[in-house]
Formats: sequence, structure tokens, C-alpha cells
Amino acid sequence: MSQFKIETKCIQSGYTPKNGEPRVLPIYQSTTYKYDSSEHLGDLFDLKAPGHMYSRISNPTVACVEEKIADLEGGTGAVLCSSGQTANLLAILNITGAGQNIVSMSSIYGGTINLFAVSLKKIGIEVRFATPDMTDEQVHALFDDNTRLFFGETIANPALNVLDFDRYAAIAHAHGVPFFVDNTFATPILCRPFEHGADIVIHSTTKYMDGHAQVVGGVVVDGGKFDWTAGNKYPELTTPDESYHGVVYTKDFGVENAFFTKLRVQLIRDFGTPLAPLPAYLLNLGLETLALRMERHCENAMKVAEFLEANDMVTWVNYPMLPSNSEYPLAQKYLPKGACGVISFGVKGGRQAAVKFMDSLRLAAIVVHVADARTSVLHPASTTHRQLTDEQLVDAGISADLVRLSVGIENADDIIADLAQALEKARG
Ligand SMILES: *Cc1c(COP(=O)(O)O)cnc(C)c1O
Repeated sequence: MSQFKIETKCIQSGYTPKNGEPRVLPIYQSTTYKYDSSEHLGDLFDLKAPGHMYSRISNPTVACVEEKIADLEGGTGAVLCSSGQTANLLAILNITGAGQNIVSMSSIYGGTINLFAVSLKKIGIEVRFATPDMTDEQVHALFDDNTRLFFGETIANPALNVLDFDRYAAIAHAHGVPFFVDNTFATPILCRPFEHGADIVIHSTTKYMDGHAQVVGGVVVDGGKFDWTAGNKYPELTTPDESYHGVVYTKDFGVENAFFTKLRVQLIRDFGTPLAPLPAYLLNLGLETLALRMERHCENAMKVAEFLEANDMVTWVNYPMLPSNSEYPLAQKYLPKGACGVISFGVKGGRQAAVKFMDSLRLAAIVVHVADARTSVLHPASTTHRQLTDEQLVDAGISADLVRLSVGIENADDIIADLAQALEKARG
């Protein structure tokens, strides 16, 4: 499908029915597969033949959606997982173990910060945080011989920093480690990180990809370009895996397929965190309209950001597409089609006024979720990021008065009218 434009891929990639087969991707609601011989099944267990063994590892419905996402991102393969958290966790564990470390941007999703600073630490993986204001020298100093990868988010949730791909790809590659990018907020419609030096892309598909707030899921996409064999730095990919009779991922599957293959057949097998066929089917429905929806999210968010910037009850507005924004130059470079539907802003009167504003909304709802079809609001300091210390909040780019607004795909005039009346009610 790679000759088609991305709007076409959203609809057509991943599933191509043969003569007389269902036009729409079927839900293969089966844990189990049937074989004509034990020998064939033996070959599957040794990874000598392609095919499905058991739906903890792979399933035909899930496989079609994985292929679509890999095609949308321009990668060699993808593995769907039970959540975005699982996707980030398994992507890291695929090449990182106890006693090793990773370097990550500090302005990332709160759940990922918890994973990094608490749970990975417990299993002996250290995460070193790079703040956006660090010099190149300071970032370089975070790396050592045990550093396995560099991690960042294309559009940070909720600080909305835009990742400086050229800068961090150069830093990561100077240390011989892959550049991991969580592309959840941008989606492959607005940014394709592999075109800007990323090696592995991760998504919480729960957000715009599903787009309807229906299914929790995640995906790891392999760019296929990182050379895992260089310098013998990644023996987990270049030496025999005894749990598959000595398979060597880079040799038996090719360097370009090694990472995602190992993640599936070893980590998903052992940790047991696949996406099930029905959620994969629902995710695929969301993906079919992804290009259309992202266009409307961006268009609406721009109108809302301009309205907020002109409103005297709003102290500040953070949206990367506003020329006044510090991220504007990076957004122009990496997000030419728009910066998604998420905006953050401060309400005049601080925390109390912000709460009054949120409680006065009629159309926009208070929800934990972001990035779906319905307009919603959240106060991160008292909810998603409440586990963070004040210092971590500052590093993550979050202030106490910050309202995170996820602009939906309703009519922009209706969204703006709702915000206007609620801001009026918040006036002291
Ligand atoms: C939501 C989110 C996650 C976690 O994904 P879940 O599907 O909720 O587990 C990871 N990264 C980013 C940027 C997110 O927005």
C-alpha cells in the first residue's frame, strides 16, 4: 500500500480481501488455530514458518490493524499491545534490563513519568531526564556505556512542547542508541517520526487513533533502519534466543524486522499483553477516519486558541500553532498540517477560577481522557499528574492553573460559545 497517500492508507491498508471474501475486516474471535500436521505446528514454535499459534501472540484481525499502522508510519512492522503504557514498557524492556539506563525528555505524559521514575526503577532500570532547556553538552552528559535508548514525545502531553527531532536524533545516534518517539498526540497524519530520525515509534492508540474513547490500546512500530548489530551493543537481538531453539533475530528475520519480531514473540509471549481481536476491530474503524478527524481537530483547535488568546479571562494560552508560542518554529518545521486538538491555558483567578470555569461548561465535559471526538477538559495538577512533586510538575511544564482542553470535532462555533459562557461565569 506504500504507493498511496496517507488518507487512502487509513481506509485501505492492512486488509485486502480476495475474491468473495468479506469486504470489511472480519473479527477473528478465536484464541486457537488448526493445523494439518504436528510438524507444521513444530515449525511455528521454532519460528521457521509464518502463521498464527495462539492469540496471546498474534491473531489475524489484530495482524491486519498492525500492518495498517506500520504502513501509516512508514515502518517495517508493528505490534499492538493492551495499552499505551504496555507499548512503552515493552518497547523499553525489549532492549533494556536491570543495571542499564535510558535517557528521556522530562516533558512527557504523567503516566509515562510514573512508569519511568517508579516502576522501572524498582526493576533496576534507571531513567535520566533531559529538560528542554538543557544545552547539548548537558544532554550528552546524561549518556554512558549502559545507556540503551533516548525517549521523547512528538507533542508532549500536556505541556505541548514540540520535540526537536533533528537535535535529539543527532544526540542519540552520536551515542549509538536508538531514538524512541511516542507519537500519540501527533498521529502519523500530522507527523511521521521515521522521516525525522526516529527509530522506534510508540502510540497510545487509546487517543486519536481510536478517536472515539472506546478502546484502550497501544502499539510499537519499528522503523527498520537502526543497525542493531553495530558495536555488539544489543546482544538480545544479535545472539541466540534459547527460548526459540537459538533463533537470532537480526539474522533470521533481518535487521529491519528484528526489534518488532522479538517484542512480539518473546515479550508479548512472556508477559501476555496482546490487544484482543474486538478492540483491534474497533481501533481499525477509528483509523479509517483518522485523516479526516485530525484535519477537523486542528482546524477547530486553531479557532479556539485564537478565541482564548483574545479573551480577557484567559491569562495565557499554549498552542504550538500560535505565532506567539515558543514552540511555533518547531511546529512549523515538524507539524505543517497542525498540532492536534489539545490546548492548555490559564484562567484568570488561578486554581479556584479554573475549577469554576470547568464546572460551568455545558458542552465540554470533565473527563480524564483527551484526544477523542468530544470536546473535554481536565485539570492535570489535581488529577493525571497529582503524583508528581512540585519540581517534577515544573519539569513536565505544568502549572497549578493549567486547564487542558481537548478540542473535539463538533462545530467550532458551539465549542467557542460554551467556553465563552463558562469563562464569563468564572469572572470573580
Ligand atoms: C495516554 C498516553 C499514554 C498511555 O496510554 P494508555 O493507552 O492510556 O495506556 C502514553 N503516552 C501518551 C503520550 C499518552 O497520551
